[in-house]
Amino acid sequence: MELADKTALVTGASRGIGRAIAQKFAAAGARVAIHYHQDQAAAEETSRTLPGQGHILVQADVANPDDVQRMVNTAIEQLGGLDILVNNAGIFIDHALADVDYETWRAAWQRTVQTNLIGAANTCYCVARHMIERGGGKIINVGSRGAYRGEPVGPAYGASKGGLHAMSQSLAKYLGTYHIFVTAVAPGFVATDMSRESLSGSRGDEIRNQSPLGRVATPEEIAHAVLFLAAPGSEWLTGGVVDLNGASYLR
Ligand code: NAD
Repeated sequence: MELADKTALVTGASRGIGRAIAQKFAAAGARVAIHYHQDQAAAEETSRTLPGQGHILVQADVANPDDVQRMVNTAIEQLGGLDILVNNAGIFIDHALADVDYETWRAAWQRTVQTNLIGAANTCYCVARHMIERGGGKIINVGSRGAYRGEPVGPAYGASKGGLHAMSQSLAKYLGTYHIFVTAVAPGFVATDMSRESLSGSRGDEIRNQSPLGRVATPEEIAHAVLFLAAPGSEWLTGGVVDLNGASYLR
């Protein structure tokens, strides 16, 4: 049990990759704070599927700084401290430059960056301050291949994930002396609600064939790597951004 006696906060754990991470962590012995935004029933469903005991639900809009602080305080209080943070919550909004008016463009940038990057930065702040007092911890940020490959119809998404990778690296340098280890993962397409439309549409086969494996990732494959990064022994990976894309995009 790699995470026996550990506690973890996983954002966006009501479904998709976040749910798979919560399940892997719980199977490895961790007690998990399952964060959700609006869908409490889905978060309860995640909770029902977790092995072990002592898991809790925490609600927040990660784009709201006060919500983030309340969520982190609740997780710390109810779990008795936090050893691991996974910033997984994120959004993708289509805003192809030639198709949207200026107001729509600005709104997409604002919402995407506020959620994917500033939300994660605020969660890092609140949790890392606690980890410093506690004597250490691990932070894993869920980024994206899009940061490197480009996101033609979602440039704010690509920029937010590029920023998230860069923030992880800066924090790894700063927090290393406090025994807090920070990494990111950069998945390509994963079969979840977020990618459902792209994968089921006419582009589905083209997307699957980007990898020599002829498919996209499962949420469990991303969770497998996140567990590896969270487990004892992976400290030397701090500052790393791990590509998880089935050789669909090599850099
Ligand atoms: P998903 O849409 O199923 O899950 C996203 C989660 O984020 C949801 O639980 C949602 O409630 C939460 N969330 C969104 N906005 C929020 C907000 N303002 N406050 C709180 N929670 C909020 O998608 P997923 O595929 O499971 O995505 C998980 C992460 O993986 C995201 O960061 C995404 O960018 C990243 N990612 C996904 C893919 C993919 O192809 N699915 C590829 C690369 C990276």
